Amino acid sequence: QLKILQRAEHSVSRKKISKNALKVLYRLYGADYEAYLVGGGVRDILLGLSPKDFDIATSATPEQVSKQFRNCRLIGRRFRLAHILFGREIIEVATFRASHENSSSQDAKLSEQGVLVRDNVYGNLEEDAFRRDFTINALYYSAKDFTVLDHVGGLKDLEARQLRLIGDPVARYREDPVRILRAIRLSCKLDLRIEKSTKAPIPKLAEMLEHVSPARLWDESHKLLLAGHALDTWRAMRGYKVALHIFKQTCASLRNDESGKFNQFVESALANTDKRIHQELPVTPAFLFAVFLWRPQQVLAKKLSNKGLAPYEASQKAASKVIEKQRETIAIPKRFSLVVKEIWALQFQLVNLRKRSVERVSQHPRFRAAYDFLCLRAGDNQELKQLAQWWTDYQEVSPEIRNIMVKKLG
Ligand code: ATP
Ligand code: MG
Repeated sequence: QLKILQRAEHSVSRKKISKNALKVLYRLYGADYEAYLVGGGVRDILLGLSPKDFDIATSATPEQVSKQFRNCRLIGRRFRLAHILFGREIIEVATFRASHENSSSQDAKLSEQGVLVRDNVYGNLEEDAFRRDFTINALYYSAKDFTVLDHVGGLKDLEARQLRLIGDPVARYREDPVRILRAIRLSCKLDLRIEKSTKAPIPKLAEMLEHVSPARLWDESHKLLLAGHALDTWRAMRGYKVALHIFKQTCASLRNDESGKFNQFVESALANTDKRIHQELPVTPAFLFAVFLWRPQQVLAKKLSNKGLAPYEASQKAASKVIEKQRETIAIPKRFSLVVKEIWALQFQLVNLRKRSVERVSQHPRFRAAYDFLCLRAGDNQELKQLAQWWTDYQEVSPEIRNIMVKKLG
């Protein structure tokens, strides 16, 4: 039931498409390949939003694509793709793929849990549509005749503002559990409902996320938390029983959080991150991981110091352990976990004001992040609030008054 919308029947105009994406399309047409804009690019324009990136699907194989462009890199093993580079913009070009079910070859492979570990069986446009995740992500725009092609009922779902997996939801989640996170992420980001049969299996299947590679979950956690909808996304991840499998220690701490203070800290940090993103201020995933793992780190540090370790040592050791454990599910790269540790170590110095160390602390490259962290974790704790206020004043006053503030310290 292919549905074709002519140019006059849809809102995808070339003005809304990146020049570079159009260049890629025309080059492929010139070489007699089929090529379409697909995925988030088409979906977002139809929703009246500006797409964050543009993906192209083509009949050309990655090697054939790379012959057409000098600025092309082939990437990915699980899923081979061509990236065409235009300065900072990357246009992703994927060859039409078929479902692995139609193939017995080595190019598609399911692991023992039914997870798709390789997905390189090439196919035609229709097959490519059916192997995509959600119906609204399988709409194809042709820059040759300006039509939009819909093989899977995506236009209807777009109209109803809902996310629906193509095919049998349980099977589709099983072959790639990351689709669970994509459902949550896209529904929060685009303010879409998740269609009933797509939504229902999520809590039961969420456990499968534990089998996804930690490197992939790191990439995905980025998109979940740094897209400007982190608070909604986090609440949805908790609601669907998803968070519990990828942020185990955080969720354990939240279960024991009788006062609700840790929950408040986490939520206010997420709200703050969203606000910063909307103001186009810089954000780092390290800050959020420092927040998520704060209580687990504190609890473990206390345990270790009760066993006789000096407080600072206990804190360092707890930091390493807690981060190591998180890495079992989400592979936080070293350069970020170092920042997490720095933010935590600075908490120590921010709350133990010393004449000798104030200046050095305030010059630390992580001072600003650590100060923001302190303000958020202070919540309604009067003592911490006063300390945070001291640092706020310290940053705002003249050097002379700063000297006076420092002199008053012990
Ligand atoms: P975003 O706005 O975040 O870029 P997107 O839908 O474009 O959203 P991409 O990761 O850029 O997300 O993927 C591009 C397209 O590739 C998707 O729209 C979808 O058609 C397909 N796709 C991505 N991930 C999967 C997956 N795990 N399973 C099936 N299809 C997928
Ligand atoms: Mg995209």
